[in-house]
Amino acid sequence: MSSKKIIDEFIVPKCTGKAFKVNKGQKFRVVEHEGKQVAGLIFLNAHNYKEQFMAEFSGGLNYFHPSHMGSHYRLSKLYSKVPYENVMLTVTDNKIGDHFLGPHCTKTMMEIWKAPGHRSCSDNFTDALREFGLALEDVYSPSVFNAFANATIDPKGDGTIQIDPPRSKKGDYIEFLAEMDVLVAVSICPDDQSAMNDHSCKAIKIQISQS
Ligand SMILES: [Zn+2]
Repeated sequence: MSSKKIIDEFIVPKCTGKAFKVNKGQKFRVVEHEGKQVAGLIFLNAHNYKEQFMAEFSGGLNYFHPSHMGSHYRLSKLYSKVPYENVMLTVTDNKIGDHFLGPHCTKTMMEIWKAPGHRSCSDNFTDALREFGLALEDVYSPSVFNAFANATIDPKGDGTIQIDPPRSKKGDYIEFLAEMDVLVAVSICPDDQSAMNDHSCKAIKIQISQS
């Protein structure tokens, strides 16, 4: 980020959530602080919280767009849900390439993994959103950009989802350009039950810059 002015930089501790605003024209990076850690991201229009990022829909639009901007496995443009359908953010740098569009871990998922009561991304997002007067029921929470998640849908053609440890190492990052003023809620996934975070929870660094 040598040619850009970093205006804010902070560590989000393991197993926690945080929300922050990024203005139109600013960029932000989600950086592997230690490596092999997934960061779940929810995006809302900072001036209209009803307008929220819709992950799966964005994957389809990227794929079917005439310029083939991306896909479920390599998203370029992040669109908001109907009826808005605006480009909220553009992925401007993603060398590692891995993300998973869809759900985050929840209490039921933890029960299925035989860890009832274990902290989940639901708890992290609840904490993060509270500061902005929002509850989990106010967001379309299954629609998450899970940065660094190394999950494959239907690898065997039988509808299963395969989760492998992240391939991202310390210092790897995904960079976004805000195409509107956005509220970002990030959950540093507290799942140490599956391979999602390589069975060990770590911190994530956020960098916001003026591009
Ligand atoms: Zn999680």
